Amino acid sequence: MAKEDDKLKRVISHAKEYGFVFPSSEIYDGLSAAYDYGQLGAELKNNIKRYWWDSMVRMNENIVGLDSSIFMHPTTWKASGHIDAFNDPLIDNKDSNKRYRADVLIEEFVAKIEVKIKKDVDKAAKRFGDAFNEEEFRSTNPNVTRRQTQIDEITARFSKALNADDLDDVKAQIEDLGIVCPVSGTKNWTDVRQFNLMFKTELGAVSGDSGVIYLRPETAQGIFVNFLNVQKTSRLKLPFGIAQIGKAFRNEIVARQFIFRMREFEQMEMQFFIKPGTQQEWYEHWKNARIAWHQALGLGEDNYKFHDHLKMAHYADAATDIEFNFPMGFKELEGIHSRTDFDLKQHEEHSGKKLRYFDPETNESYVPYVLETSIGLDRMFLAVLSSSLQDETLEDGSERVVMRIPAPLAPIKAAVLPLTKKDGLPDKAREIINELKYDFNTYYEEKDTIGKRYRRMDAIGTPYCITVDHQTLEDNTVTIRERDSMTQERVAIDALQRIINEKVNMSTLLKKLN
Ligand code: ATP
Repeated sequence: MAKEDDKLKRVISHAKEYGFVFPSSEIYDGLSAAYDYGQLGAELKNNIKRYWWDSMVRMNENIVGLDSSIFMHPTTWKASGHIDAFNDPLIDNKDSNKRYRADVLIEEFVAKIEVKIKKDVDKAAKRFGDAFNEEEFRSTNPNVTRRQTQIDEITARFSKALNADDLDDVKAQIEDLGIVCPVSGTKNWTDVRQFNLMFKTELGAVSGDSGVIYLRPETAQGIFVNFLNVQKTSRLKLPFGIAQIGKAFRNEIVARQFIFRMREFEQMEMQFFIKPGTQQEWYEHWKNARIAWHQALGLGEDNYKFHDHLKMAHYADAATDIEFNFPMGFKELEGIHSRTDFDLKQHEEHSGKKLRYFDPETNESYVPYVLETSIGLDRMFLAVLSSSLQDETLEDGSERVVMRIPAPLAPIKAAVLPLTKKDGLPDKAREIINELKYDFNTYYEEKDTIGKRYRRMDAIGTPYCITVDHQTLEDNTVTIRERDSMTQERVAIDALQRIINEKVNMSTLLKKLN
């Protein structure tokens, strides 16, 4: 089994064992690519949402929130281009009957070459030590330049074919590169076809085409159609943003890799309305702001990289992805798109209603441009979970599994543990919980040895364990143990609120963003 598969499997089984994520309708053997968030998963998800929402809506005077409905008038999707162009190129292998996205097959082929380049670079870096100049090495080493040229040629041909909708050439390229089906090992491919990703259903009792309604494939359109409602009632001036968190649905061709690619998922999207001509400046601004949001979590600076789009979506004039180093390798976590005035203009055209902004400075009315940031909540959840989960060997040789979840995101902030079940210690522990529960999500546990209880809390990422012992009854002090360093300190019960708050309060993250 590949190492990446091992890593992902480990994350999946840990997530299930501790109540983060369960397969959907598991008693019926599950439903492919659908998952349920368990008791700890729901907490973590809520905390990620809050971090995102507060960083947008609370930290920026000119960004407000919205909660629009999942069902929208079907013409929305005609106007947005989703009915005609929200397609993925799919290809089947005739021997295994497995279905793939043609673009993904090619991207994976390129990724393998990139891994080879990286190996050469790392080897050279080791050999030359401090004197190593990576840029020079990449531009002069014959092996690296040959491979880089190969990548450039593949991507150029592929993006040309896709942009021209030349699906025959996409197939020809897959054949020319000798890409085989990972299951059958053969190159016996069907033609490449386009497949629309929107789920369709019917509204009420109306049947036939007139009743067709779609499950939204992105939350953004709910923002666009409300652009004037929000602008007029909030009296915001350009530039301003509207943020929304909500479910989106896509009938993905290949949905696998756990919660990375699901058919029902959640997005956190912000559309920033700007004056035409300022899009480059705002594109840079939001690229910087969004990477800073990620970096503030401390999941590892090297775990992120930008990946500019080869093929622009039908609405964009510039687009980049923030990729994260998932257990399966670097993959898209968030998109930052300069959407121009495409969406608002389309909605003007299809609805016959003006969606213009009156600029009091220039006395002009115009359709604003839009800069979008769009992140998948479930992918963010996977990023946090997979990078936090660590196996550690301690100084005494014993092992522990610890989830170093950023403390403000941790599902449980503090566990209160009576050393024994007797002598009034449980009552004292409950007293402490009753003080702390208004500010923090707390947890009470009295079963098993204290060491075992610490390990269980480490495995779910609880930043603090508070132990109540006999001394507590005498002097109102407790032992507080910190998850990452495992240091233990004797402190007064009165000090607990302050100590915990310093570390777990969401403001510790938000303050890093200024
Ligand atoms: P991909 O190329 O991986 O299919 P995309 O480019 O189609 O993604 P966008 O349309 O830019 O994705 O959507 C914005 C964000 O929504 C993505 O960055 C991702 O985090 C999330 N997302 C998209 N599709 C899914 C899915 N099927 N499951 C979970 N999250 C998703």
